[in-house]
Amino acid sequence: MDFNLPEESQMLKDTVRRFVDSELMPLEQQLPDRPNCVDLPEDLRRKLVAKVEELGLAAAEAPVEVGGAGLGPFDACLVTEEVHRCTAGRGVFAMRFAPVLYELGTVQQKEKYLLPTVRGEIQGASAFSEPQAAGDLAGIKTTLEKTPAGWVVNGNKCWISYAKKADYILVLCRLKGTQRHEGMTWVIVEKETPGCVVGREQKMLHGHSTYEVYFENCEIPDSQLLGEPGKGWSAGTAFLYSSRIQIAARALGIADRCLELAVEYARQRQTFGKPLASRQAIQWMIADSSIELHGARLMVYDAAWRAQQGENVIQQTAMAKIYATEMVGKVVDRAVQIHGAAGLSDETVLERCYRDIRPMRIYEGSSEAMRSVIARNLLK
Ligand SMILES: Cc1cc2nc3c(=O)[nH]c(=O)nc-3n(C[C@H](O)[C@H](O)[C@H](O)COP(=O)(O)OP(=O)(O)OC[C@H]3O[C@@H](n4cnc5c(N)ncnc54)[C@H](O)[C@@H]3O)c2cc1C
Repeated sequence: MDFNLPEESQMLKDTVRRFVDSELMPLEQQLPDRPNCVDLPEDLRRKLVAKVEELGLAAAEAPVEVGGAGLGPFDACLVTEEVHRCTAGRGVFAMRFAPVLYELGTVQQKEKYLLPTVRGEIQGASAFSEPQAAGDLAGIKTTLEKTPAGWVVNGNKCWISYAKKADYILVLCRLKGTQRHEGMTWVIVEKETPGCVVGREQKMLHGHSTYEVYFENCEIPDSQLLGEPGKGWSAGTAFLYSSRIQIAARALGIADRCLELAVEYARQRQTFGKPLASRQAIQWMIADSSIELHGARLMVYDAAWRAQQGENVIQQTAMAKIYATEMVGKVVDRAVQIHGAAGLSDETVLERCYRDIRPMRIYEGSSEAMRSVIARNLLK
């Protein structure tokens, strides 16, 4: 479905589509068990990242002042959508930015951690979820306590992406003795710090792994505190809205590809002497997917466009995230149904898409949490 984009945005979208078609699509069949670039052989990954850098699209969302491409939410959304049409190599466009560091970091902290992250030289992880509190972040129990030499961190985190390969972890803690939203503080813990332990790997449905991380009397100097102690609750929230739009944009890309595959298959597959495309049951599945994808795209582009103009988009991003991530579930499911057994085998990319999309309704604000945000804003 065409959408009348501003000329520069259309050029950006076309550039990414050409890159995806020529560089990433061929990898889908070559690397059937390697669904994302984190798993690509290192030499291939580096070559692809270098090409993305040549296109000027590395660290797409990081501001220009810290070395990023400085794309606004709308343009970043177009890039994300195109990249997610393919199941391979998405990680070459992986986010090289740490919004909390950008928002709260001192000049020295940015030079030491943020700039090398944007250049792709080091990697960070972000740890807020805990076994007893992930959706309900105000319930976190990891404590931060002042000592004569600096600070000490104690607590357990879980579901932490990239913890194993990260050089540093941004950890959300609470000042010891505080409750709920008060006392929230972000700290930077270098992974090699004594008392910081990466524990059990938690393998996820979509091939991605997260990790448990423990802090056992982990001592850090004052220089590792981000912002003022106790003022970390709302840090990074502006970025959260934009990252929710990006998740919704991933859903658009995956749905677009699955619909395309469903249409192609329905045209060529014959059953009972006729192509599937001639059957009304199949036509309606395709029509419904097309309607829902179009609706989601309008919603996501609207939220992204408003965010790019600097509007407050709490409602729009919550709606777009729910709608697009639920839409893609239905579109992929119908595409699998149309393909029959072929849709479940690893000979098509559909089974991978089926696994890829499920986490989207849980992380970065679950569908239930997003519905609460919308209702709260309407009812207040
Ligand atoms: C692939 C993946 C990567 C992740 N990476 C990271 C990471 O890098 N760093 C990090 O800190 N965390 C990470 N997470 C954790 C993620 O942020 C949490 O999974 C998410 O916040 C939900 O928390 P939970 O899983 O504990 O669910 P819970 O909060 O236990 O909720 C369980 C279910 O109940 C629903 N629910 C909860 N409360 C209510 C309510 N009041 N009313 C109605 N329904 C409710 C939820 O929506 C959810 O469906 C990751 C998760 C995944 C899946």
